[in-house]
Amino acid sequence: MTLQTHYSGLIEHYRERLPVSADTQIISLGEGNTPLLKLHNIPALLDRKIDIYAKYEGLNPTGSFKDRGMTMAVTKAVEDGAKAIVCASTGNTSAAAAAYAARAAIKAFVVIPDGKIAQGKLAQAMLEGAIILQVSGNFDAGMQLVKEVAEATPVTIVNSINPYRLQGQKTAAFEIIETLGRAPDFHCLPVGNAGNITAHWIGYSEYACSKNDNVTAACAYCNGHCPYAHEPIVSTRPKMVGYQAQGAAPFLRGVMVDNPETVATAIRIGHPQSWDSAWQVNEESGGWFDECSDEEILAAQKLLAEKEGLFCEPASAISLAGAMRDVKTGKIPEGSCIVCTLTGHGLKDPDTAIRQSAGELITIEAKLDQVQSAIMKNLAG
Ligand SMILES: *Cc1c(COP(=O)(O)O)cnc(C)c1O
Repeated sequence: MTLQTHYSGLIEHYRERLPVSADTQIISLGEGNTPLLKLHNIPALLDRKIDIYAKYEGLNPTGSFKDRGMTMAVTKAVEDGAKAIVCASTGNTSAAAAAYAARAAIKAFVVIPDGKIAQGKLAQAMLEGAIILQVSGNFDAGMQLVKEVAEATPVTIVNSINPYRLQGQKTAAFEIIETLGRAPDFHCLPVGNAGNITAHWIGYSEYACSKNDNVTAACAYCNGHCPYAHEPIVSTRPKMVGYQAQGAAPFLRGVMVDNPETVATAIRIGHPQSWDSAWQVNEESGGWFDECSDEEILAAQKLLAEKEGLFCEPASAISLAGAMRDVKTGKIPEGSCIVCTLTGHGLKDPDTAIRQSAGELITIEAKLDQVQSAIMKNLAG
């Protein structure tokens, strides 16, 4: 038997594809390396021959994909001598920023929208010692303030406008290709600021890039000067499909949205920071944007939990809600291989989960006959 090398986070693992040097002190919580699970029961409901995989990013250390970006952003901030980081957040960025700042022994300032953040995320940021500034405004207002304050204050922004964030997040695409042995045909994602869809495209493009073939021309990220692969690892890239909540869908409106509203608080964003790059991804990949209602989002969240045992937060479920609709209409053709990213863990937002849970609690006395009869009564059906 040979011992496997211990996995110690995505920077260590993908070191030669990330902007770190031999002496960089890596700030990691063991993020990345999340499961890619083939859905068993949901595709059967669709009555189509289709492979759907869920990339379960809720299993990152703080419960969302934001950890992939944060390990890079905080590692580079520390390398550059920063003593504090700052972000605006709908919740998960603040939880990740707080955790990685704690690990690095620097300060985290997080700006969150007053009252519109899921309980689990707030609990994390608070216990991890972030300094929390609740503002009477939405994410977009907070983001604007953060950009302005960072110009006049010695703090590093760790929102996805920090390019190291996307570098860390691109590794999700590497993992998917390595697990499938190919690129999927379609990659479906929730879109808020559109940093993650952009990051995935960077990752897919790097693995398809070669100096020697015509993919190079399409690879905007190396521009023919790719420092990495000279031989492509895969020959195709997926169509990138981004879903937005109906009440927060600037990519569908074609303009910014001033008062975004949705139950999926993680994507309650009306002024996406990666607007141009997301349109570029859309065009280069041949994918599309679409929107889902809050009802569709919650139904998909419930379906994933009930039919597959996968508990994700509402924003994450939009990737499946949209994919299911596009499979039904044939926009995603039969025989396709689809990956849906489940961006955050269901425990992030227990209130929404409980509110839409059908299962009532059966209250009985602590007696065998009562337990037995409750089981017998519910066994059928
Ligand atoms: C941040 C986040 C998103 C949106 O990602 P963007 O990069 O802003 O598009 C989606 N789902 C969850 C759970 C998130 O935390």
